[in-house]
Amino acid sequence: MRDVIIIGGGISGLTAAYTLAKAGRSVTLIEREASLGGLLQTRQLGGCVIEAGPDSFLAAKPAATDLIREVGLADDLIGSNDHQRVTYIQRHGRLVPMPDGLMMMVPTKIWPMVTTPLLSWPTKIRMGLEYFRRPPVDELPERSVADFVRNHYGQEAVDYLAEPLLSGVYGGDPADLSINSTLTRFVDLEKQYGSLTRGTLASRQKAPPGSASLFRTLKGGLHDLVKALTARLPGVEHLRGEASAIRYLADGYEVALGGEWLAARHLIIATPAWAASRLLADLDPQLHNLLRQVDYSSSMTVALGYRDQDLAKPLTGFGFLVPAKERQTLVACTFVGRKFAHRTPEGVSLLRCFLGGAGRAAVLEQSDEEILAATRADLQRLLGLTATPVFHSISRWPRSMAQYTVGHARRMAEVDERTRRHPGLHLIGNAYRGIGIPDCIQLARETAGRILA
Ligand SMILES: Cc1cc2nc3c(=O)[nH]c(=O)nc-3n(C[C@H](O)[C@H](O)[C@H](O)COP(=O)(O)OP(=O)(O)OC[C@H]3O[C@@H](n4cnc5c(N)ncnc54)[C@H](O)[C@@H]3O)c2cc1C
Repeated sequence: MRDVIIIGGGISGLTAAYTLAKAGRSVTLIEREASLGGLLQTRQLGGCVIEAGPDSFLAAKPAATDLIREVGLADDLIGSNDHQRVTYIQRHGRLVPMPDGLMMMVPTKIWPMVTTPLLSWPTKIRMGLEYFRRPPVDELPERSVADFVRNHYGQEAVDYLAEPLLSGVYGGDPADLSINSTLTRFVDLEKQYGSLTRGTLASRQKAPPGSASLFRTLKGGLHDLVKALTARLPGVEHLRGEASAIRYLADGYEVALGGEWLAARHLIIATPAWAASRLLADLDPQLHNLLRQVDYSSSMTVALGYRDQDLAKPLTGFGFLVPAKERQTLVACTFVGRKFAHRTPEGVSLLRCFLGGAGRAAVLEQSDEEILAATRADLQRLLGLTATPVFHSISRWPRSMAQYTVGHARRMAEVDERTRRHPGLHLIGNAYRGIGIPDCIQLARETAGRILA
């Protein structure tokens, strides 16, 4: 019998397979799609490196950087061009730069806040007074991101800062997402300082000085990490197909794959929670129900390539976010060549648009022509961009981003408790301890470490 079966060949499953195989364990990796990597897919078009899914990861979380170095890609690591980091937010139909010094929705510089046309005077005054807020006397209950931000900075800060930022990062709705599970750091700052502004300023002073970039990625795109991992899976049996059921053995598990049953002592399910839920329906109906409750949002990316000479005016900054209050189709747009080097050839501009998100899955059902027309209409309205793109690439990601809604931590504690009843069963992926690439890698590493121990 093999040591481990892993279902799902995204970055979570691949990291677990790599870590276990390196330690000499016999591993079978089952992936439904022809290509490994899950959401990490990179395309080459018109000389550009196009990320169909994620485009980078947070540098502050070391797990991804560590893995990249370990698989020999240290020289390919690049940071975002933070010296030209300006993000615009749509307000009254126009793009307004986010005030300098804003960390998520926390202001840390006075003058840019005073002069920004993004927010009204009552909100600016309220954001300034937040500085004097005292720490809470009692433990505060879990709240949604919207409730939390409204309480500190008011509704306008929810509409024009928290909502567009969370839609761009989590494809989520701040009215549903839990502040405790998505932005834990802010809850800690509130507990310690009362004021998020004072807390952020204080923790910034404690941080070591340095000019490290906020985001990192790979020169050739994130799929290079998938390729490097795949090349380092000695002896790992890779089977293509959809695992359809799981059952107990006396000393492990059996997985159904295309009419065959495969046995292993350990089973790692590295799929989205809704897929894990289906697999566990017979084995543990309670766990099945808990996993079914993890919401997922659906999103898509639309990359458009233009000749620089066709742009009405040069692109500046990293891109823009569109708040729900003013949204027609686009949620966000990245000016790829401005954010990262090595992405576009001379004379070409690449715009990567993000569509969909919580409550807006219907856009994925539209035809490519409809999506292109709606995307271009938004770009014309916001950037005055009337030129025809020289190429485009559309990627749909149905039910791909886990939503840590209010109650997530409690549900995860129950998931842990139920999973412990099944020795040798492990759940990893973006549904549990963080949706970012570094979070997924870290959970996969910890899980592999537990199996090896
Ligand atoms: C559009 C988009 C942009 C994002 N941007 C960023 C970003 O910039 N930075 C960042 O850090 N994170 C980003 N994320 C989040 C991040 O990409 C994901 O959380 C992470 O890649 C999830 O990896 P995973 O391996 O857990 O899951 P997945 O990549 O979803 O892999 C799961 C795999 O399981 C397979 N599978 C499912 N069911 C079965 C079955 N029954 N049998 C066999 N195989 C099965 C699937 O085919 C898939 O390959 C983004 C996500 C999306 C959707």
